[in-house]
Amino acid sequence: MNDYFSSDFKLGVLGGGQLGKMLLSETRKYDIHTCVLDPAADAPGRLACNEFFQGDLKDFDAVYNFGKKVDLLTIEIEAVNIEALEKLEEEGLEIHPSPRILKLIQDKTVQKQFYKDNNIPTSDFEIFNNKADTLLAIANRDWPMPVVWKAATGGYDGFGVNICRNQEDLQNVGDQKGLLEEMVPFEKELAVVVARNKKGETRSFPVVEMEFHPTANQVEFVIAPSSISEDLKEKAQKLAEQVADAFELCGILAVEMFLTKEGEILVNEVAPRTHNSGHLTIESNYTSQFEQHLRAILNLPLGSTDIKTAGVMANLVGTEGFTGNVIYEGYQDLMALDGVNIHIYGKKETRPFRKMGHVTVINKDVKEARKIAGLVKDKISVKA
Ligand code: ADP
Repeated sequence: MNDYFSSDFKLGVLGGGQLGKMLLSETRKYDIHTCVLDPAADAPGRLACNEFFQGDLKDFDAVYNFGKKVDLLTIEIEAVNIEALEKLEEEGLEIHPSPRILKLIQDKTVQKQFYKDNNIPTSDFEIFNNKADTLLAIANRDWPMPVVWKAATGGYDGFGVNICRNQEDLQNVGDQKGLLEEMVPFEKELAVVVARNKKGETRSFPVVEMEFHPTANQVEFVIAPSSISEDLKEKAQKLAEQVADAFELCGILAVEMFLTKEGEILVNEVAPRTHNSGHLTIESNYTSQFEQHLRAILNLPLGSTDIKTAGVMANLVGTEGFTGNVIYEGYQDLMALDGVNIHIYGKKETRPFRKMGHVTVINKDVKEARKIAGLVKDKISVKA
């Protein structure tokens, strides 16, 4: 077994955004030498790593050469050059999650097919190669509206996902490969972050509830513990563990789900990395998702996922109508309130709905935490 603490061991991370930055708090805690590759010279993860390399994560040479400098490689973003990772893996480098899993996940049509093939409950869907075929299936009423169209690749944070309710919405269907999906009339959107190590041991965090921004199709609040029944909580956690097993994943997997009125839980999509829905674990749980990711990929014992205290996370995104050098307003009064934890990612430039930071409110009472989180959203503004 490797020695990781204060040793020559080098961990490589592809991506130095906010997820990388929060992972680096944990590598700092354990004094694990960490190298980061990111295209931006001023990436949020730049300051906390031991060695920073600037390079394009989609470029074969940049990723391959970076991989040659480290003993184990992980990611904080899925959009990376897979061919370089496959070559590095062939040459004996340990990579978590494996490029095989990244390949399954990068394309939403491949990901959906994987659920179907592995008997993982998910909404019905059909794959189309272009806009004309997609629109024909809707016109023929094989897929009557409302229906959801998703781009196979290139989408993120709700972009590349179009809910088609009427003729006008159909203009937003891209002329590219994608899928049509049954519109699920869900009660709630849930997420479970699960860790799995090389031995195949899994440990899931308690299920969280997500509240979405009404127009931006982006998560606004993440709430734990969820108000659903104990049975449903267990069902959601079991399902997340089943998905992690099916992928034979090593590391963290975030599983986004829909809960229907009938108590059915469907997998919407997954991310094989730390995730926005797990940020509140930093303050609310015995082990954070970032520490758990390290434990999983380094084959260390997985930590307790129990909740210490209720938490509600609010994303701080760029206010509509402002682009440019960021200014944060209104946070000083909020810092006087108990349990308000502000995270600023360190991105210099704001754009409408860009994730710039988040706030986790902890409280003994989840309802009180949600109330304060609402206040946070109203008071803090991210402008230019
Ligand atoms: P992204 O990768 O952009 O996050 P998602 O697949 O998570 O895309 O979709 C974004 C949001 O769109 C979901 O969180 C949900 O609110 C809505 N959505 C996606 N698929 C469906 C569906 N089949 N039925 C109803 N709503 C959906």
